[in-house]
Amino acid sequence: MTVTPLQELADFLHDCQRCKLATLGRSQVVFGVGNPHASIMFVGEAPGFNEDQKGEPFVGAAGKLLNDLLTSAGLSRDQIYIANVIKCRPPNNRDPEQDEVETCKPFLLQQIQLIKPTLVCTLGNWATQTLLERKVGITKVKAQAFHLKDFVLFPLLHPAAALHQGNLLPTLKEDFKKLKEFLDTNTAPAEPTSTSPTPSAPVLKIESPQPAQMDLFG
Ligand code: URA
Repeated sequence: MTVTPLQELADFLHDCQRCKLATLGRSQVVFGVGNPHASIMFVGEAPGFNEDQKGEPFVGAAGKLLNDLLTSAGLSRDQIYIANVIKCRPPNNRDPEQDEVETCKPFLLQQIQLIKPTLVCTLGNWATQTLLERKVGITKVKAQAFHLKDFVLFPLLHPAAALHQGNLLPTLKEDFKKLKEFLDTNTAPAEPTSTSPTPSAPVLKIESPQPAQMDLFG
């Protein structure tokens, strides 16, 4: 069996010792999971307790909510790829620290380079700021498309935020509706004769940037 470059990267990081999280109680590196040919990728913050135990992103309560939200947008987990900015659980689920983000970010970028998604949905502030490379609040940029060099970024609130603050749940659901609208507008009709060996997300045909969105950054 041939080992794919994505699997090679996962193997390379398997026992990563590059930052202090390796010695702060993580059980394992949580690399990412899903369709390696996905045109849509989701990026969260960091593994929590359940993810650290299972070795997969978004398998706890936030993951259950994410599954429901994906369904509402017409997506399933086997169509997409999910990873986190940080691959190891921070102690007591504390926020990632800057050195940890800086150490792990190149590997997220490599994952994106290998999967080549057309659309990357960031969940929460950490993932959004890491990929936008700007310290901008999620509430200002959420549920809109940003045309970056290699992919379109679509920031969303983190599902865990809606679990902690119930009043955010309707907004999160509304934002996944906007994601569905964006997908519906930018998805090419399915090819009836497609011979693709693996189920993949819809083929996205995303139009060129709208200059107005750049105003968001003032
Ligand atoms: N929150 C995240 O950001 N990532 C996970 O994998 C789980 C919860």
